[in-house]
Amino acid sequence: VSTSPIRPKNSDLDNSGGIVFIQDITKVRKLEQLRTEFVSNVTHELKTPITSIRGFIETLKNGSINNPVVATRFLEIIDIEAERLHELINDILLLSEIETKMKDTNLESFDLKIMVDDVFKVMENIAKEKSISLINEVKDEIFMKANINRMKQLVMNLVDNGIKYNRQNGTVLVDGHREEGKVVISVKDTGIGIPQAHIPRIFERFYRVDRGRSRGMGGTGLGLSIVKHIVNLYNGDIKVNSIVGEGTEFIIKIPHQE
Ligand code: ADP
Repeated sequence: VSTSPIRPKNSDLDNSGGIVFIQDITKVRKLEQLRTEFVSNVTHELKTPITSIRGFIETLKNGSINNPVVATRFLEIIDIEAERLHELINDILLLSEIETKMKDTNLESFDLKIMVDDVFKVMENIAKEKSISLINEVKDEIFMKANINRMKQLVMNLVDNGIKYNRQNGTVLVDGHREEGKVVISVKDTGIGIPQAHIPRIFERFYRVDRGRSRGMGGTGLGLSIVKHIVNLYNGDIKVNSIVGEGTEFIIKIPHQE
């Protein structure tokens, strides 16, 4: 807390005292701390793939290049790590773009069911790799006024997680309906679930329930932070229901915009 005396102009109190202005600066400190943590996390997350890329290049230069089987494998790893860097940078840029916005732009009216179908088309191939069925149960004629690409990003991040943290032959089901002036979107999977104690933290940047495992699955650790920021941009809210070993459901409610 910072205190600073303010002397009111033309006041009888001029010589006899003042008003103490009390401002809560713990919030400011907390924000500063979060920013510092973020920068240090970003640095770490960027360094990991770069170190790996440089390591493999060095090994190739030291002779492995002459063994085509080994060289091909190393080049594949370099490619995967470069792709990870690319995704990470895209997510960081996206996050900083939505973070600084008070309101979204390019709003248009669109049919939610059709938008979800478009997202499924993009995710089809990754779903097939694990034989996961994508089910669109959005009710007909639910129109939403929003930035369609932003909403696609939101649904895509949740469906992507629904696939990644699922079992073979599982399902990811998206439902959408209207409720008391709000559009409700839910994404439900039959995956590994999230232990209750971790739920409050999963929207934090780079927070992962199982660090090693999630990294291996190729995420950036920013997917849910992006989701949360998009929901905030539309004054909505997000809830998570999860049972370990059975699955997870994310429920988003967004006030209807005229
Ligand atoms: P990541 O890129 O690691 O998936 P996210 O921000 O999207 O990052 O998610 C944060 C963490 O929350 C994940 O690492 C994972 O541990 C957990 N998580 C997110 N979605 C699910 C889900 N549908 N099922 C189980 N765990 C999930």
